[in-house]
Amino acid sequence: MKTRSADLLIVGAGPVGLLCAYLAHRCGLRAVVVDKSEGPLEVGRADALNARTLQLLEVAGLFDELYPLGKPCNTSSVWADGKFVSRQSAWWDELEGCLHKHFLMLGQSHFEKLLDEKLRTAGVPARRSTSVERIEVTERGCLTLLSDGTRVESSYVIGADGSHSFVRGHFEIPFEIVRPEIVWAVIDGVIETDFPKVPEIIVCQAETSDVAWIPREGKIDRFYVRMDKPEFTFEEALAKINRALRPHSVKFREIEWYSRFSVKESVAERFSAHDRVFLAGDACHIHSVNGGQGLNTGISDAFNLVWKLDRVLKSAASPALLRTYESERKPVAESVIAASGELVRSTKFSATGTHARDYVEIVRKRAGNITGMGIRYGESGLAGSRLFDFEVREGTKAPTRLYSLLDYARFTVLVFGEGEPDFDVPADAKVVRVSAKERPDGYWSERSPYANRAILVRPDSYIETVSEVRG
Ligand SMILES: Cc1cc2nc3c(=O)[nH]c(=O)nc-3n(C[C@H](O)[C@H](O)[C@H](O)COP(=O)(O)OP(=O)(O)OC[C@H]3O[C@@H](n4cnc5c(N)ncnc54)[C@H](O)[C@@H]3O)c2cc1C
Repeated sequence: MKTRSADLLIVGAGPVGLLCAYLAHRCGLRAVVVDKSEGPLEVGRADALNARTLQLLEVAGLFDELYPLGKPCNTSSVWADGKFVSRQSAWWDELEGCLHKHFLMLGQSHFEKLLDEKLRTAGVPARRSTSVERIEVTERGCLTLLSDGTRVESSYVIGADGSHSFVRGHFEIPFEIVRPEIVWAVIDGVIETDFPKVPEIIVCQAETSDVAWIPREGKIDRFYVRMDKPEFTFEEALAKINRALRPHSVKFREIEWYSRFSVKESVAERFSAHDRVFLAGDACHIHSVNGGQGLNTGISDAFNLVWKLDRVLKSAASPALLRTYESERKPVAESVIAASGELVRSTKFSATGTHARDYVEIVRKRAGNITGMGIRYGESGLAGSRLFDFEVREGTKAPTRLYSLLDYARFTVLVFGEGEPDFDVPADAKVVRVSAKERPDGYWSERSPYANRAILVRPDSYIETVSEVRG
């Protein structure tokens, strides 16, 4: 029997597991990622990356390749009685400290394929057609048996194995599921229509609000159709779409993906077991797709977790740091469930019969979750908040984004002013000085919101500590 050793064994090469493996590789960790499937997703599932995800992708060096593939979208409109009755984007336009104030409409398959290819090129490809049969936590770490007979000795295991998680079940982590009995059809395809087509998220009002039209990258459009019964045909879903879009109609020239799903909601009681095994993504939270938060939340889980494992493995940080993964991410998962749950129920129930308008109002109210920009760790203050992004310049060069100076493998100390931070600078931190005035060399920004402050930024671009700059 072959035995391999690794820092991390990652179960599941969906978007979250692939991202964990990629971030681990960037940190210089040895990660083995296994998946029972033969390859990355080809079509369907998540359709939007939110503004916070776009910032995180910048830090991981993935933004420049993904961004051109998608379609920006920041507007939610309501179609009722044969016309648009509202169009709103204020919650995106008013975002501060963010340069991409919109969703990037982009299918999950693009995300998975890029990461799969990156791992392959880096010489650490996902091990496909391989599942996990047993995991034991030992004194030194974890011992995992794979279906091909290989044993993997690793310091930690990440269970990124989706909503039916083997890892969660194996460690008997409770995952009580709420089923609100709401069933959707989802159709991705190339359409023909006389509708005045716009690249906006269109929420339609008929008797209730049972159709949403989502713009997608390339030639594809997506429709979500609430069907209110477990069994239905494609023709019934199409009839609902055409009823909602009256007096216009839609025909599908090509169908790329057609699926149905019933809404399920749950957050795992614990996000870890024995301080050695961690859950991420759908393995620890599932909810309705409304608000587009599933993939985005899983991506933030990965960013939150991997640097902590890296610090404990390589920089002798206290294992107590790993406990902050659950204390930070579980409340976020709970808030995501509250937001998506309120959205999905509003499509069916409205006291005033204005379901679609109610829906957009909930989007406005829950914008912190939906844009991802309202997520913070801790109650208040700069520590625990996301670092704002803004343009900085290096000498006379073209402006660059502050986030492009961050490095996921390290803490960054940003010094906005002429002096020194009033906190201990981690030995391996990257120190970047940003002057408040134009200068011929070095970084400068006249619009920094952090004048005369020094900021210790975590690898996942949340603020760890702030101080005045000492002269
Ligand atoms: C119709 C639909 C629309 C959606 N729309 C959105 C959206 O607009 N925005 C959004 O953010 N999210 C959306 N989501 C949710 C999103 O797709 C999921 O949140 C996301 O896929 C979760 O990623 P994951 O890596 O955690 O899990 P998964 O994508 O489920 O990946 C888990 C992986 O683990 C593997 N695996 C499972 N068990 C084992 C085992 N024992 N051994 C080895 N491998 C194993 C599986 O093969 C799989 O590849 C949507 C989902 C659906 C179904």
